[in-house]
Amino acid sequence: MNIRRPRGTEDMTPQNSTGWQHLVDTARRVAGRFGYGEIRTPVLEHRELFVRTVGESTDIVEKEMYSFQDRGGRDLTLRPDATAPAARLYLQENLFAEAQPVKLYYVNWPIFRYERPQAGRLRQHHQFGVECFGSPDPAVDAEIISLALHYLHELGLSDLQVSINSIGCPDCREDYRQTLVGHFRECEGEMCEDCRRRLRKNPLRILDCKRDECQKYLQEAPLMSSFLCDDCAAHFFQLQQYLQVLDVGYQCDSTLVRGLDYYTRTVFEITHPALGAKDVVCGGGRYDGLVEILGGEPTPGVGFGMGLERLLIIVESEDAELPGADQLDAFVVTIGDAAHREAVSLLKSLREGKISCDMDYLDRSVRAQMRYADKYPARFVLMLGDDELQSGQITVRNMQTGQQCMVDIDSVAEYLAEKTSSACG
Ligand SMILES: [Zn+2]
Ligand SMILES: [Zn+2]
Repeated sequence: MNIRRPRGTEDMTPQNSTGWQHLVDTARRVAGRFGYGEIRTPVLEHRELFVRTVGESTDIVEKEMYSFQDRGGRDLTLRPDATAPAARLYLQENLFAEAQPVKLYYVNWPIFRYERPQAGRLRQHHQFGVECFGSPDPAVDAEIISLALHYLHELGLSDLQVSINSIGCPDCREDYRQTLVGHFRECEGEMCEDCRRRLRKNPLRILDCKRDECQKYLQEAPLMSSFLCDDCAAHFFQLQQYLQVLDVGYQCDSTLVRGLDYYTRTVFEITHPALGAKDVVCGGGRYDGLVEILGGEPTPGVGFGMGLERLLIIVESEDAELPGADQLDAFVVTIGDAAHREAVSLLKSLREGKISCDMDYLDRSVRAQMRYADKYPARFVLMLGDDELQSGQITVRNMQTGQQCMVDIDSVAEYLAEKTSSACG
């Protein structure tokens, strides 16, 4: 019986949820600050969506998708990419009819790819990303790169390297593609198997190859920058001007192409040394043809995605400050059966007063209950026994200072609300 979780997936427990929630909360805050609104799409989409957009000859579609037929005989795929579903939503929900551009973000989206599992590379990972539809303005490209950096800085990361490139539009890229095929055909025999296949199907992707045997030929390859048409060159130039205005340091990397077919013009990556030189924290770019591929009007778009598991590895490696686990406001220690019953109703009124609280449910000794409260950790312990029941007053102990006082049971919720909202407790 195989009841362990599938290879390449992870569980989240309360112990490791704090860092995760911090990544998600920060993403929502930063995206909101830039005017982006949250979207969610199903985890399942029609397989066709990804074949048409991500591209038939990409690794994702060829080797990495989780696809299956449902009981109705439909070909479905667990989404391996977030941009195509976002574009599908833009069309299907008529967002093109609203004021443009439409600025969307998603966070905590599971993404599925059948890859070789390694640190931070999972078969189910989760992404934060933004997509902006409806504007060709390079200032939007710059804004999106700046948004990603704001987010990473807010998580306490430094040492980030931004690389940008332009892969042109379908017109100028076709000239480049042909020149590239001519160049690589001469050394085809010495290149890796993947590159030989790419040469026939998707030669631009050869520039993405990380294999040593191909590096030499990559360095000698012609550059896209000398093939850009006037409009694409101007767009790339303006992007760089906007980045300078935004104080974003960057380098131009003419080998940067990104692995998906739908990109046009701007592509960019943000890397961090903790993941190694080849590993990317954030990747994105412009996809001006994407909505049209899906049957919509020609609509420019630009966006990025980042994997949250990998990001968490970096945040932890940098000792960037993560918020501590949430404290419990109050733990009710009970002595005796009558107190146990009374505590149940006390918890009810505390929770109605928005005080987080808990009590013992295992008939522990007072000492064991105190240890349990300590472990939470709880800021206050309320001691409830026969004496307290008789006097109607409860002992409240501040666990940080050790100070104790007596408070009327009826007003303990108010007392704690006041104490837990003030910094000194
Ligand atoms: Zn062009
Ligand atoms: Zn290769």
